[in-house]
Amino acid sequence: MPPSSRRREFLRLATAAGTVVAVEGQQQQQNQPVQWAPRPLFNGAPVLFRSNTLSGPATWLGRQIEFRPAGDADSKLYTALAGVDLNTKPGRYPLVIGDLTIPVLVQSRAYPVSRIRVDSRFVDPPKDEAKRIAEERELKKRVFAESPKERLWRGSFAAPTGTTQTSPFGARRTYNGKTRSIHQGLDFAAATGSEIRAANSGIVRIARPMYFEGGLVVIDHGESIFTLYMHLSEFLVKEGQNIGKGEPIAKSGATGRVTGPHLHFSVLWQGAYLEPATLLRL
Ligand SMILES: [Zn+2]
Repeated sequence: MPPSSRRREFLRLATAAGTVVAVEGQQQQQNQPVQWAPRPLFNGAPVLFRSNTLSGPATWLGRQIEFRPAGDADSKLYTALAGVDLNTKPGRYPLVIGDLTIPVLVQSRAYPVSRIRVDSRFVDPPKDEAKRIAEERELKKRVFAESPKERLWRGSFAAPTGTTQTSPFGARRTYNGKTRSIHQGLDFAAATGSEIRAANSGIVRIARPMYFEGGLVVIDHGESIFTLYMHLSEFLVKEGQNIGKGEPIAKSGATGRVTGPHLHFSVLWQGAYLEPATLLRL
């Protein structure tokens, strides 16, 4: 098939699939005891499940989640914040709550590819930094394994800075034509010294300089949901400190593996990095 007709064929299939999904989406929203956003769901997305009738533990993509009152304890709305790992293949996945199994459609999203040039010490770290890098990896592992079961976040998540988003989540990157990685966060334009704020309430678990991340703040929001803020030039919080949504936590910078000053913002749910832009819209 020549490229032009292949493209037409692709568009025809994509449009047909889109129609089916839209109709199915409406039916599901009306009939299901659990609703969710975003719709359609895609690999890499955070997902907010909502129910007016069901609460308690549930299973989703092999992980335990918990439907809890969205507001005060006698709230009639129950929510669970979860996600879809970037490597999840498109298909229908069961959300199991009580004796109900609800099929949830996950579609595939194509992510862009980009090439980046950085200081070579971030692609081939000098040998005498190996111990530091290993210790920092252990620290992150420990922190990410320790989140409290309770919900520390409240309501919606807010952008950590009011500036424009420059580089999206999920881009496959090549550093100096060599190291391949996936961009596991969202970049915001931020001149060095810009104020960075907590996306939601929680506990500061890490606030220190790291080799690759540069100045790093990690906030634990409970339920194994973390937000990460990288390349910072100055810390305004200490490890162990409780923090409220919107409170200043740091000043942005150009530390660690960067091409210039900006804020890198990541969202981690039960070990999976999720697309921050969608979380900020839920
Ligand atoms: Zn980034």
